[in-house]
Amino acid sequence: MFKIEKLQFNKFIPLLDKLEEIYAYMDEQYNQAAEYYGFKCTGCTDNCCLTHFYHHTLLEYLYIRKGFSKLNTNIKPDLKKKALNVLRLTEEADKNKKTAHVMCPLNLDGLCLIYHFRPMICRLHGIPHELNRPGRGITCSPGCDEFAKLCGLKEYFKFDRTPFYIKMAGLEKELKETAEIDQKTKMTIAEMIINW
Ligand code: SF4
Repeated sequence: MFKIEKLQFNKFIPLLDKLEEIYAYMDEQYNQAAEYYGFKCTGCTDNCCLTHFYHHTLLEYLYIRKGFSKLNTNIKPDLKKKALNVLRLTEEADKNKKTAHVMCPLNLDGLCLIYHFRPMICRLHGIPHELNRPGRGITCSPGCDEFAKLCGLKEYFKFDRTPFYIKMAGLEKELKETAEIDQKTKMTIAEMIINW
């Protein structure tokens, strides 16, 4: 649990507004690449919401929490139950040295309940990309299986995640300085919502 739970959420609203600007930039770049490929995600059996994603910023933790707070109160106990089940199944998979393949508790009938507030990794998934990490050089990663099936033969469209990561890191630093927090973040959606 973050020390930030005890702090005034309102204090961070301007930073979450800046996060929205970064997301808008990401979405625009993603859409340009998707348009080039003619790629439109309409769901698939290997849904990316089944992937065991970790989220690494306090910024996104707060933004997802903001999205969660806007959901109908009636459905929250069920979502928490689903989150606990996800944690249980993930632990089981870990014990058996398998990869957990469990649906995110915020996915309801194929739709994301917090779509507007979804984190970076959910926004960027699916399309081939490159990333330039200091000291590690440029690494290129393929798109998802559905992308490979539908658009895999098309020539690569440069989709560089580096500027997004740099902007996110800068804003995260600002947030942590404002909150006087140096705690590292590494949480799944399920781990987040069991506490809310
Ligand atoms: S937050 Fe939304 S988009 Fe991301 S994995 Fe969960 S349901 Fe899917």
